[in-house]
Amino acid sequence: MTGAPRRVVLGTGNAHKVAELSAILGPRLPGVEFLRFDGPSPVEDGDSFLANALIKARAAHHETGFPAIADDSGIVVDALDGAPGIHSARYAGTGLDADNRALLLERLGDAVDRSARFVCAAVYVDRERELTRQASWEGSVLPAERGTGGFGYDPLFLPADAGGRTAAELSPDEKNAISHRGLAFESLAEGIAAL
Ligand code: IMP
Repeated sequence: MTGAPRRVVLGTGNAHKVAELSAILGPRLPGVEFLRFDGPSPVEDGDSFLANALIKARAAHHETGFPAIADDSGIVVDALDGAPGIHSARYAGTGLDADNRALLLERLGDAVDRSARFVCAAVYVDRERELTRQASWEGSVLPAERGTGGFGYDPLFLPADAGGRTAAELSPDEKNAISHRGLAFESLAEGIAAL
């Protein structure tokens, strides 16, 4: 295949991520139709965000035959030696964001160093090539939740560059302009547009 693709399958079953990705990629890749991949989820047994993003995108490409985009992301907390990291989605083992946040607060206790970052690996896979990007969003973990927007750890995450608001207090557009996912996919979209 040569040139930018007409149709791309998004290799994620997470509805919040599909919404964020469509908002970020849509304006940057005009004329590209985004399809949601609802096939079986592959086992994410990679040891890095990038490895897991590639597993998801390769599976979506393999199952559908379309070029595929996927990401893998999570929150990396310094005082916890990088946990929950690639295990962010399943940290508490219940699949519930609220439980993950409660466990993170419990593990951090009254730690003074609360520095953390969201990390996102974003990849594109077609028959001929794989494009990979990674970006992070620096900030810290608050001792209590604030805000009702976003998903996952957003109510606990105080970005260094959001004027004192948590990620859950930003509008989707504000979050996409500075977030790990926004930056990684902005760069990936440029790479896809240049194919
Ligand atoms: P993934 O779907 O395997 O990439 O898991 C990502 C997990 O990391 C999510 O379920 C959230 O717990 C967390 N996460 C990643 N990005 C964000 C974000 O932008 N806000 C809040 N939590 C996030």
